[in-house]
This record gives sequence, C-alpha cells and structure tokens, in this order.
Amino acid sequence: MHLKEIGEFGFIHRFATRFDELIKKNEKGIGDDCAVFEANEQENYLVTTDLLVEDIHFLRTKISAYELGQKSLAINLSDIAGMGGTPLFSFLSLGIPDNLEISYLDSFMEGFYQLSSQHKVPLMGGDTTKSPDKLIINVAVIGICKKEETRLRSMAQESDIICVTGNLGNSAGGLKVLLDNLDLSEENKQLVGFHHNPIAQVAEGKFLARQMSVHAMMDISDGISSDLEHILKASGKSAVVFLENLPINQGLKNVAKKQTWNLLELAVSGGEDYELLFTMQANDFERLNIDFFKQFKKNIVKIGEIRKGNAKIKWLLHDREIPFFSKGFDHFKTENR
Ligand code: ADP
Ligand code: MG
Repeated sequence: MHLKEIGEFGFIHRFATRFDELIKKNEKGIGDDCAVFEANEQENYLVTTDLLVEDIHFLRTKISAYELGQKSLAINLSDIAGMGGTPLFSFLSLGIPDNLEISYLDSFMEGFYQLSSQHKVPLMGGDTTKSPDKLIINVAVIGICKKEETRLRSMAQESDIICVTGNLGNSAGGLKVLLDNLDLSEENKQLVGFHHNPIAQVAEGKFLARQMSVHAMMDISDGISSDLEHILKASGKSAVVFLENLPINQGLKNVAKKQTWNLLELAVSGGEDYELLFTMQANDFERLNIDFFKQFKKNIVKIGEIRKGNAKIKWLLHDREIPFFSKGFDHFKTENR
C-alpha cells in the first residue's frame, strides 16, 4: 500500500489516536491547526509547523525567493490565526541544494524577515542542511491565546451559520495560470499574486475569537470542501453550503470564463486562500459583520449552515443539489497537488 491510496489524512489517522492517549487534559494534539497546551491559568500556547518541498508546494522558477520567504512564514501565521491566537516566535529549517546561490537565500531571508518584523515575531532558531536537489523549507511558529478565546475545529454547534472572511479560489486560479503557462495579463498576474503572497488573517482571527458568538474556526489551506469537512468531523455535525453565496473576486470570474475553468470547483477545492472559515450563532451575524467591516474594511460572508449528522456536506446551487461536489474532489485534488 502506498500513501496515495490512503491519502495524507488516512496516514495521520493510522497513528494519531495512539499518541492521543499520552496527551493530558487541557491539551490538544494532532487534528487542529495548532497543538494546544497550557501556558498559565489564563492562556494556552499554540504550536504549528508546515513543510514546503520544491516542485510539490512551490515552483522555484515561478515564485521569487523573497515571496517564498514571506509565504513560508505566512502559512504558519495563518494556522495561529485559525485558532484565534497571537504569534510569538518562529523556527526555520532549510534543506538547501548545492547549486543554490547565496543571493537567492539572502532574498528568501529578506522576505522572511519583512513579515516577521511586520508581526513582531522573531526567528529564534532552526536547522540548516544540504539537500540533494530540491529546496526544502520547514517553519514552526509558537503562539499564545487566552483559554476562552482558543477556537477549535470541534466547536461547531447545530444551527450555527458557516462564514468566511474573504474571497475563495484566487490562489487556485493563480496556480492554474502558472501550470497552464498563460500569458501574464493584468488579471492573470493578479491571480498569481494571490497565490504567491497569501496574507495571514491574524488580526481578523483574534477579533473573531474574542466574540462569544463565534464557535469553531480554522484557516482555509486545502479549500472549503476539505477544510469544512475537518470542522464537521471534529464537531460531529453535517452542513449545507449555498454555492451561490461563495465570495469570488471579479478578476477570477473573468479569467475563469475566458479559460473555461470550473469556477465553483476552484472556489470549493482549490485551496491556499488562507482566509478564515468559522461557524457562529446566526442571530449575531449582522452585528458582527458591521463591527468586522468597521475594523477591517471588508465583510464576513455567510456560505452555509451547520446541521445534525456526521460530516456530510450538502452542496446547493440555487436550491438544487450538486452531486458532483460530493464525489469529484479527491480526483481533482490529486491532479493539482
Ligand atoms: P494545516 O493545513 O492546518 O497545517 P494539516 O492538514 O497539514 O493542517 O494537518 C492536519 C493535522 O495533522 C495537524 O494537527 C497537524 O499537526 C497533524 N499532522 C500532519 N502531519 C503530521 C505528522 N507527520 N505527524 C504528526 N502530526 C501531523
Ligand atoms: Mg490550518
């Protein structure tokens, strides 16, 4: 049996529960955006780590070294944001192929530094080694969060509404522009920009986590089809998603039309948008949306509802169920990763 037969999550599932037995009360191990353990009576520490491998997660000829440095940190900050936390420190380990120029690495570190400085998150250590021919990047970030504000994937409640903090599918559109070698027109370039320069929603995550009406939360790294399923599995719930409500940027709509891409598929299972996906009490939506807009000059968008049941997602487009979305993802995903 090989990894591709059981998938990443199938593999993690094979060993995760054994380690759960070693975990103490008030600690959360494998299965959320971050591991959670007690810092003091009021706060939790959060720890997250992500591995980026050249030609799997990035194409060295397409993304600049500076952007890659920023993105390596941003995707980890995003996991801290998904829990509602504040990032404190980072660690960076690199596997470097022999033929890589020092100027490339300097530029990578400049990008890493600029985002670190923006979030006041110092790089505190790591490891450096040689790699046969691909650049390998591992970042870990430690964060902190008030206990009552720590938002887990398991916190969704029946009758909650499901919301996102911003547009879906832009990053996947950008990746398609690169993979299909499209010309870099203004609109295409913009999509590539979304793919190469994700913005971790740290302030937004902290703001949402302070709200009593916000329940489960996570960041969107794999696309809502996969990420919402994580919330549903962890919470023992099912969901209905209203596809016509998904926020999609006009630029992506234009390019998708021109290239005859399946827009909904990109928005639902494309991934790497690094917006936040959260569930909340329905009757506080309007108030929260107004407050969120005042602070961040953008809206939160309701895309669905949490229902009873076990981890099923019903995809509705103008009240018509779209069966394709229940079947087609895995295939689509393996083709694009
Ligand atoms: P995210 O996309 O939020 O970074 P992932 O989907 O990569 O999360 O991982 C899901 C969960 O599985 C996380 O809790 C992560 O820490 C854990 N995980 C992934 N790979 C491993 C591994 N090799 N060993 C232990 N835990 C892992
Ligand atoms: Mg995550």
